[in-house]
Amino acid sequence: MYPNTQLFIDGAWCDAASGRTLPIMNPATGKEIGRLAHAEKADLDRALEAAQKGFAVWRKISAFERSKIMRKAANLMRDRADAIAPLMTQEQGKTVAEAKMEILAGADTIDWFAEEARRTYGRVIPARAEGVYQLVIKEPVGPVAAFTPWNFPVNQIVRKLSAALAAGCSIIIKAPEETPASPAELIRAYADAGVPAGVVNLVYGVPAEISSYLIPHPVIRKISFTGSTVVGKQLAAMAGQHMKRVTMELGGHAPVIVFDDADVELAAKTMAGSKYRNAGQVCVSPTRFLVQEGVYNKFVDKFVEATQALKVGNGLEAGVTMGSLANPRRTSAMEVNVEDAQKHGGKVRTGGHRIGKEGNFFEPTVITELPNDAKAMNDEPFGPMAIVNPFKTFDDAIKEANRLPFGLAAYAWTKSAKTANAVANAVETGMITINHLGLAIPEVPFGGVKDSGYGTEGGSEAIEAYLNTKFVSQFGL
Ligand code: NAD
Repeated sequence: MYPNTQLFIDGAWCDAASGRTLPIMNPATGKEIGRLAHAEKADLDRALEAAQKGFAVWRKISAFERSKIMRKAANLMRDRADAIAPLMTQEQGKTVAEAKMEILAGADTIDWFAEEARRTYGRVIPARAEGVYQLVIKEPVGPVAAFTPWNFPVNQIVRKLSAALAAGCSIIIKAPEETPASPAELIRAYADAGVPAGVVNLVYGVPAEISSYLIPHPVIRKISFTGSTVVGKQLAAMAGQHMKRVTMELGGHAPVIVFDDADVELAAKTMAGSKYRNAGQVCVSPTRFLVQEGVYNKFVDKFVEATQALKVGNGLEAGVTMGSLANPRRTSAMEVNVEDAQKHGGKVRTGGHRIGKEGNFFEPTVITELPNDAKAMNDEPFGPMAIVNPFKTFDDAIKEANRLPFGLAAYAWTKSAKTANAVANAVETGMITINHLGLAIPEVPFGGVKDSGYGTEGGSEAIEAYLNTKFVSQFGL
């Protein structure tokens, strides 16, 4: 069963003041499965008031106590993972196994930030005069407004929410309207774990209306957004006008560089697994495969083989390895990309078509020899599409890897330590993983450069985004 989703404001689940609701569609069937409360200004005003009140309470609770509540929330997510996963599958399309992995990874993220809560160290700076103490103190930045997308309904929120709470901030989350029930379960876990009323608030509605109200609002001190570069630039500009702190986790177009000396079979198998996870709707999804000429044909064969071995279907069904796309916009985008690729002379090695008439299914697709002026070589396809092109020299590969304005994730495969070091240095990216998949675990930084945004949402650095630095110079009495 799929529930209707309410707003969570000031510690209580509620309908929108206007009573308005939105339909929730199952992307695998195209059918309505539930309704979602739709917040408007009156609801946002209540959420703002609650967040202000919640901040005053939460910042005074010791990091030690905050950490205990957070760990409890993590354990509730683990206990409830089997019940939450099918909700996520029904609203988002990914397989139940992927959904469960996301929920368990979310619990690990909560634990990580619960630990970091107790390590928001300041420092003592040696003074120029005897009796003077120069202290650097970390304080929570204040109420946060967070905006998150539909591709990872729980994990996009959990990084922002948990870092904010660890730091002592309160938060209003504008969660994804298309995938609302699983994020609501994350909020429920926090509420059941004992987070005081007003500290965490959850709203849904028209994204632009909510962001343009919350970002300039004086109560809000920090903005965090995950989504497309186009929207991210608009929100960052608005935040800049109001001098708000910002974290932006935006689009990517990840290059994968496979050198002649790579373990080609392992590279093809591993990268195909990564490419089609969540039907390619992942900001760090490997997209531009650049393969050195000596192993090009072998790589293409192995990659196509791994692609064809996928079983596409309703994510609730056993044995399905790739679910539906999350919304009809993505299937249309895939069709446009394939058509454009063919016009530009790209070769469709496998896939390329929508599957069936019901739901948003698209074949896992491999296109080769696609020129740089094709759409998919420039815009993030954000779907089950891999593009494989050959290259000659190291410099050619780096030039292509750095050609686009994005710089989120990159991948490389080589058995040479020298080449591995060189590629890690040369690619303009926020993250690179070489000879394995090593991105996006809670204890390592997660974020981009260039048009992919700024700030990091993982590792020890992540909590800094929610802390102010205060300097205190005190003459001892
Ligand atoms: P979109 O660009 O309109 O929306 C992307 C996300 O931003 C959604 O969650 C949406 O609710 C939110 N959003 C849009 N306008 C907003 C605003 N004014 N204020 C606050 N939030 C706003 O379109 P879409 O069809 O949902 O996605 C299209 C593209 O977005 C994808 O192709 C992909 O490039 C990118 N995207 C990236 C991520 C990521 O993980 N970085 C996730 C989802 C989508």
